[in-house]
Amino acid sequence: MTWSTTTTATPTGAGPLTDALAQLESALAHLGFNGGTRQMLSTPRRELMVSVPLRRDDGSIAVYSGYRVQHNFSRGPAKGGLRFAANVDLDEVRALAMWMTWKCALVDVPYGGAKGGIAIDPREHSVAELERVTRRYTSEILPIIGPTKDIPAPDIGTDERTMAWMMDTYSAAMGHTVPGVVTGKPVSLGGSLGRAAATSRGVAHIALMAMASHGLDPAHTTASVQGFGKVGRDAARFLAAAGVKVLAVSDIDGAIYDERGLDIGRLAEHVDATGSVAGFEGTESIDPGSILTLDVDVVVPAAVEGVLTGDNAAKVQAKIIVEGANGPTTREADAILADKNVLVVPDILANAGGVVVSYFEWVQANQAYQWSERDVNDRLEERMTRAWHDVVDYAGAHGLSYREAATALAVQRVTEAHRLRGLYP
Ligand code: GLU
Repeated sequence: MTWSTTTTATPTGAGPLTDALAQLESALAHLGFNGGTRQMLSTPRRELMVSVPLRRDDGSIAVYSGYRVQHNFSRGPAKGGLRFAANVDLDEVRALAMWMTWKCALVDVPYGGAKGGIAIDPREHSVAELERVTRRYTSEILPIIGPTKDIPAPDIGTDERTMAWMMDTYSAAMGHTVPGVVTGKPVSLGGSLGRAAATSRGVAHIALMAMASHGLDPAHTTASVQGFGKVGRDAARFLAAAGVKVLAVSDIDGAIYDERGLDIGRLAEHVDATGSVAGFEGTESIDPGSILTLDVDVVVPAAVEGVLTGDNAAKVQAKIIVEGANGPTTREADAILADKNVLVVPDILANAGGVVVSYFEWVQANQAYQWSERDVNDRLEERMTRAWHDVVDYAGAHGLSYREAATALAVQRVTEAHRLRGLYP
């Protein structure tokens, strides 16, 4: 294994790490923290880079770059997803790990932050190849993960099947089943009821509270959703169920629009049958790039980072943006949207429902006791509501944007834990 020897995470240019560090700087400036605290929080505690060799189905061997970055442990074991995407790199994983630290602190779950990734496009591989690459990656990062050390979960390109393989590989090495090593597992293997839809459920709770704060009645509110995967699909479903007219959705293959509001249930069936939202009967095909700038009240970017930029932010017509994805809004876009008085509900608040129910799953695994779905959903709503009010109150009291308030609150909690623990030795 290769241990990184870098002492600071210095971004190589524009990108998620530049955005994450700028957000941290602004929180530190507001809190009046600098020096060692600044250095500590801008630097991951541990970075592991691995080469992941894969024997392809045709017998050839390919090697992929894998990463696991553990940003912080002050509040508990590191926690965060595992991403499979062709363009994954170390800086992206560093940014995502830092955001996990803030997210866990903001919703007050007892974790630090981490993220993992493999630079691989899962769509170009068979199930058997994905299993081999997942198992080899797991065995490469095995020394630094564990239910009390670092707990992976799904992210872009991974799912409950990936988590089952990870758990099995880890358990085989330990000699006994360790369900608490990952979250987002299949329910039949100790996964939590309600975990699969938790991120989306949280996004919808937050969107509805944001709408209420703007005096928007769901029955007279329109929305567009970018991404129809783990987050966007059920977010669209929950919003539609609350009465919101979801006029447009997009995925990697296209975007569709219906001025009467899409039937999300039927659209989901179409996607299950065809693999894409494109071509859904009775809808108009639109430019996927326009999904963020349509004439709707609420936009939910629920795909990847860096989609709202200095180039398109000025064209946003929505009153509210609810970040289902991690890092969809760049620094430049944030400034433009603030000038336009668009309410941006930040990722670390809006999409925290996933890690909240990951925490519930880990608690259930540690207790070997399954909660009812209703219990999970009620407790999720309670946590999301509390975090929403914490952010709104803090933003109001200090004259900050919701992102600044959320980051400052989180940074304050992490710093407090660090102060109480003291520095070893
Ligand atoms: N990948 C998800 C996120 O970005 C979930 C992480 C987790 O549950 O640990 O929040």
